[in-house]
Amino acid sequence: MPSLLPLVTMSIPEQLPADIVSCIIEQATSNEPSLSKLVQLSHINSVFVESCCSVVSTRVRSVIRTFMDDGVMDSLFKILESVHGLIGGSVALDVIEPDFFIDHPPGDIDIMTPSGTMTEWVGWCDSHGFVDRETGEVNPDREDSTKSILWVRMHNGMELKIHQSQSSSVLLTLLSSNLMLQMNTISPFRIYCFYPWMTINGILISCQGSPTTYDIDQLECRLIEYYWSTCLWNRPCGRGCPMIWHLSYGVGMYEWSRRAHLSYDVFAETHLQWGIGNDCYNVHCPYRVQEID
Ligand SMILES: [Zn+2]
Repeated sequence: MPSLLPLVTMSIPEQLPADIVSCIIEQATSNEPSLSKLVQLSHINSVFVESCCSVVSTRVRSVIRTFMDDGVMDSLFKILESVHGLIGGSVALDVIEPDFFIDHPPGDIDIMTPSGTMTEWVGWCDSHGFVDRETGEVNPDREDSTKSILWVRMHNGMELKIHQSQSSSVLLTLLSSNLMLQMNTISPFRIYCFYPWMTINGILISCQGSPTTYDIDQLECRLIEYYWSTCLWNRPCGRGCPMIWHLSYGVGMYEWSRRAHLSYDVFAETHLQWGIGNDCYNVHCPYRVQEID
């Protein structure tokens, strides 16, 4: 019978004081700040779970604090909670992979909101005196998923971009993003990453629509590898294959707020299927389309 001794001696005692655990986490994440590292550390024991959650919670707030003070941030989380909205774009990616943003921090905040909730957002903007607003143009590729876009300039000149979904779920607009790396998001309670392996490795594939040259420039200056398709890859596509359909139910997520277990979870409530394309021509991929000579 195999001995369990090595496992037992390697385990870290539960009673390790919280301040020592904080030092261990700080040390372990100083060169590797990825959320995936914190998730790994969370698996050690309950003291690590608590400490990692507090590191992530501080990180979420500090990324958003670049755009607004704590009072506005608290009211932003409140409205997101009440309308079941999400924060997406580079802010969500910065929380997950801060390394990409060291020299080029996020320029604006993208908010995804369900259909029929724009009135609440206009009321929220008015209550903070954010009257400098204009309606943005929805990219024709995304008209099926996104009903409207509202640009809001705050008093400090920073911008919020509110994307209204065509459906009662924000997932529709989020999962029809033009770029795979935009499929990361933060709710007032949780963080969701749809393509964890590719996100961690900074690999990005274009999705159904066409990303703008601005989007691509932004990614390239952050040293993220961009591919318009997997067809020239010299390896199988894996989870990034356009032929694979994914189910939103059961997607990987991290609870960054202690109230998460009491809250609405859009992903548990909505069952949506998505894929990033209609065909795959990567010769190394088992799902590729067989070309007819
Ligand atoms: Zn493929």
